[in-house]
Amino acid sequence: MDQWRPIPAHVTQRVVDLRRAIHRRPELGFEEHETAALVEGELAALGISHRRVAGTGVVGVVRGARGGRVVALRADMDALPIDERTGLAYASEVPGRMHACGHDAHTAMLLGAARVLAADREHLRGSVVLLFQPAEEGPGGAAPMLEAGVLDDPPVDAAAMLHVDARLPAGTLGITPGPVCAAADEFGIVVRGRGGHGAYPHTALDAIPAAAAMVLALQNIAARETDPLRSVVLTIGTIEGGYRNNVIADTVRMTGTLRAHDPDLREGLEPKVRRILLGIAAAYGVEVDVEVIRGYPPVVNDRFLAEEFSRVVSGNGIPVIAAEPTMGAEDFAYFAQRVPGLMMRLGIRNEALGTVHSGHSPLFALDEAALPVGIAALVGFVRWATTLPEYSR
Ligand SMILES: [Zn+2]
Ligand SMILES: [Zn+2]
Repeated sequence: MDQWRPIPAHVTQRVVDLRRAIHRRPELGFEEHETAALVEGELAALGISHRRVAGTGVVGVVRGARGGRVVALRADMDALPIDERTGLAYASEVPGRMHACGHDAHTAMLLGAARVLAADREHLRGSVVLLFQPAEEGPGGAAPMLEAGVLDDPPVDAAAMLHVDARLPAGTLGITPGPVCAAADEFGIVVRGRGGHGAYPHTALDAIPAAAAMVLALQNIAARETDPLRSVVLTIGTIEGGYRNNVIADTVRMTGTLRAHDPDLREGLEPKVRRILLGIAAAYGVEVDVEVIRGYPPVVNDRFLAEEFSRVVSGNGIPVIAAEPTMGAEDFAYFAQRVPGLMMRLGIRNEALGTVHSGHSPLFALDEAALPVGIAALVGFVRWATTLPEYSR
C-alpha cells in the first residue's frame, strides 16, 4: 500500500482561509451564488475545467495523465436559517443564516483536495469529478445534479464524501459499511369531525380525542410492529386544531417525519400509517386524510469500499471509528444509489475548544485541526479508488 504524503501546510492554510470566507457568507439552498462563484474562481485558478449545473451547483473535472477509473467527490455548499451564537471572529455576517452543519468545511476541503490532485496530474490515474452541490438541507441538490448528467461524462465508477461529526474526536474518521443515514419521508394528517359547543359534546364530533388516539396508536409502528433490532422513527412534529376553550374542534392537522434505514422497511411504513389512521378514524367516527411526501432515500455505504478503505486509512495512521449509523438524512443517497458510494464522517470534537455541539445548533463549531485529515482522506480515496481493478458490491 502506498503511504500518503502529508497535506502541504500551504494547502491547509488555503483551506482554512476559504472555509472562514464561506463561513462569513452563508447562503441557503439554491441561493449559493457567492459560494458557487468562489468555487469557480478557485477551480479556474487551479486550471480545472468546470461547469454550472442545477442552478448553483458546480462540477469540476481533473483528468489524470494516466488511465484509470473515474471517482467523484461530493461537497455540499448550503447553510441553514439559524442565527449564529458562537462568537467566533469569522462568524456569520448575515443575520438568520449560519453554516451550522459544516458544509463550509466540506466545500473548502474539496477545494483543497482539488488543489493537491491538480498539482499532481501527471501521476494521477483516472479522473476525478468534483461535485459542489447546492441545497443539501432541502429541497435537495443531488437529484437535479444527477439529472444534469454529472455522473455520466466522464462515467463515474464510485463516489465519496465527508461530513463533519461532533460525536467523533477531531482527527478521526468514521467509516461504517452498510446503512449510515436514514430515509426521511414527511407526512401530513388532517382529522375532520364536526364542531360544536364545548358544553354539548354529544351534539358534535370532536376531532381532538381522535387525533390524540392517532398519535398514540402510530407509535405502535415502531414499538410493536418493527423488529426491535432494526430502526424506525415516527415523530409527530406539529399538531394544531381548535378555536378556544369552550368550542369543540372540527379539524386537527398534524405533520411528522417517518424514517428507516432499510429500503424494504421504509416501503412498509406508509401502509401501516394508513391502516392505523383509518382504523382509529372509523372507531371515533371522524374522517382522516393522510399525505406522505417522499424524501431522501437511505445512504447505504458500499461494503467493499467501506471495509477496504478503512484499512487504507488506518494503515496511514488515521484512527478509524466504525461510527453508529444515524436517523439523519443526506441526499448523497441519490449518488450512492447510482454508483458504489462511501459517506465518511470527519471527527471535529475537541472539548478544550468547545467544539462539542451537534450540527444545526447555533453554537456549532469545529476544530480546524481536522481539516487536513479530511483533505488527506479525500485525496487518498481518489488515489486508491482510481487504481482498483474492480469493485465488488
Ligand atoms: Zn444539516
Ligand atoms: Zn450536513
